[in-house]
Amino acid sequence: MPVVSLLQCDTYDNDVLKERICRSLALTGFDLSRFRDARVVVKPNLLMPAKEDKAIVTHPEFFRAVIQIVRENGGMPILVESPAVHSLERAIKKSGYADIVESEGVTVADPAKTRILTFDGAKKFKHIDISEAYFDADIILNLPKFKTHGITYITGAVKLLFGAIPGLEKSKMHLRCSTPEAFSEFLLDLYGAMNYGFSTPKPIIHLMDAIAVQEGEGPGPAGIPRRLNAVLAGENGIAVDYVAAMIAGLDVNKALTVVNGFARDYGVASPDEISVLGETVEAMRVNDFVPATGGSIFSNMFRWPFNTPFVKNLLLDRPVPREDRCTLCYQCRKICASGAISESSGRIKTPVYDYNRCIRCFCCLEICPEAAIEKQKGRLQWILGG
Ligand code: SF4
Ligand code: SF4
Repeated sequence: MPVVSLLQCDTYDNDVLKERICRSLALTGFDLSRFRDARVVVKPNLLMPAKEDKAIVTHPEFFRAVIQIVRENGGMPILVESPAVHSLERAIKKSGYADIVESEGVTVADPAKTRILTFDGAKKFKHIDISEAYFDADIILNLPKFKTHGITYITGAVKLLFGAIPGLEKSKMHLRCSTPEAFSEFLLDLYGAMNYGFSTPKPIIHLMDAIAVQEGEGPGPAGIPRRLNAVLAGENGIAVDYVAAMIAGLDVNKALTVVNGFARDYGVASPDEISVLGETVEAMRVNDFVPATGGSIFSNMFRWPFNTPFVKNLLLDRPVPREDRCTLCYQCRKICASGAISESSGRIKTPVYDYNRCIRCFCCLEICPEAAIEKQKGRLQWILGG
């Protein structure tokens, strides 16, 4: 039975965090002596360079506490991350990680080095190119930040493993998997590969920073920081995400990586199989958590003529840049794998969008450092109750 540890924590104080994280690991049955002489890949959420008060990245003090626990127990921590647009070096520097990496002697893996991971049990993507550092790891510590997400509804343990895909290759996957259903299935193929694809399976522990989280239009600068005051842990990422969604009071049926994850039975097939230790979900639940408005409503249920560009543009949310906030940095253009964004011209003081090409992945909205991109409803969206 998969165990999820759920502990109350309302601070990023180092002593408190270390106590909670050690207790979380103990509750999940993980003995700290396993760190001795182990190469421990530590994967935070470093989506982009961001200050901790935005709740975009895994809080640097959470990362520090984990690194210190690994070090104090004889392990060798290796930071593995590959932001989509920015350099890892810049994300480390601007997100408050640089002094931790230096003072704690953390090795930083080269995000450009990759290797193919094969998982024959995948539904579609049996061979996935991921950061090479995972192959050399003895233990993987996945450190998700709990946030809302326009496509996957929530981002947590399962979604964070998407960071194993190098840089801009991530946005190409959005192009190949352009519906929430297809993208979630890809994430589950990747999750399966990380759990069952290595020739010798590696322990993966998900340690979730759900203290300061994001609601609304997460997971980037447009999301709204708020508190859940929780630390979660477990070896089953689907179970951890389920419990996180429950304490946020969200409709878990909309989290496709969870419900479709149950259907795949990767160690957990239903909520009844999850054992929550520590606090109860009821004690930690909040009632006023605001979900994302949802990504594309262009799901697999829509077939021709409803998926033609003309009808799509009438029925779907679209990303629209705001002139009063846009600084023309063009990070949106860089991340757009479908080539739907071009430079501003004439009197238009924002990038120009080609909505016929746009697949509504909302990567541009996620990455825009000025929160300058908004979702606007299609003119006939009321037909679908949007
Ligand atoms: S919309 Fe955002 S990401 Fe795009 S150019 Fe403007 S500020 Fe930069
Ligand atoms: S314009 Fe934005 S939402 Fe549309 S495909 Fe490009 S990145 Fe995705």
